[in-house]
Amino acid sequence: MGSVGAKEVPTLLTPDGRRIDGRRLDELRPLSITAGALNQADGSAFVEWGMNKVMAAVYGPREVHPRHLQENNKAIVQCRYNMAAFSVDERKRPGLDRRSQEISKVIAEAFESVIFVEEFPRTSIDVYIEVLQANAGTRCAGVVAASVALADAGIPMVDLLPSVAVGKVAGSIALDLKKEEDNFGEADLPMAMVPQSGRLVLLQMEGHMNREELGQALDLGVQGCRQIHEKMKGALRERYAPSSANPQEANA
Ligand code: UDP
Repeated sequence: MGSVGAKEVPTLLTPDGRRIDGRRLDELRPLSITAGALNQADGSAFVEWGMNKVMAAVYGPREVHPRHLQENNKAIVQCRYNMAAFSVDERKRPGLDRRSQEISKVIAEAFESVIFVEEFPRTSIDVYIEVLQANAGTRCAGVVAASVALADAGIPMVDLLPSVAVGKVAGSIALDLKKEEDNFGEADLPMAMVPQSGRLVLLQMEGHMNREELGQALDLGVQGCRQIHEKMKGALRERYAPSSANPQEANA
């Protein structure tokens, strides 16, 4: 450990390229996705990703509330991303702060660009994301959970929306930052991608990278999104065609 002022800075990258949790720069944290985790919602999914735990629930298409938001030629997508007070080390003040509002807005816009909204005029598709445990990358875990929940609700979309944060840690470009890397690294770049076309529908950046690093980061993020996409499809297969997801079950 080194120290900056009073803050202890952990060793983020060993000389042989291992990260704080032993991962390589291009490795994801363990990811498990359960589609249909809740009974009452039209669609739902639970994601455990590293130490993140995120639940998503989807309702709709349904009547728009508040009414004045209704659009005559398409559905609107409303999203509420919320972090539970107990989800982080230092208790978070409950309620929607500016960060949650910003995240809710960018996630809603990302989904609006992949859902066939024109098929459901004058309705709302409501996406709820509840972060129960947070360890960086919760907006990406939220997008992954919500995307599987939307599919579980039968909402027609161009494709699922895998999402991951890439960043710069101890001078190197790294996939899927955990909390210490997010806190002490040089940059954090969450993204979400339409796998079919490679179109990015969510892209944010905090910190600094040069153009070459940005290119590297995007390439790594695309790779990560492709792996996450497979897991998302696997979760839906597990729910709707368990025998094809796990052939042994069919014989049981
Ligand atoms: N965090 C926290 N308190 C807050 C907001 C964030 O402890 O009020 C932590 C939490 O672990 C979160 C991480 O900081 O996952 C990174 O937050 P960021 O705003 O970068 O969003 P995220 O990476 O979760 O999408």
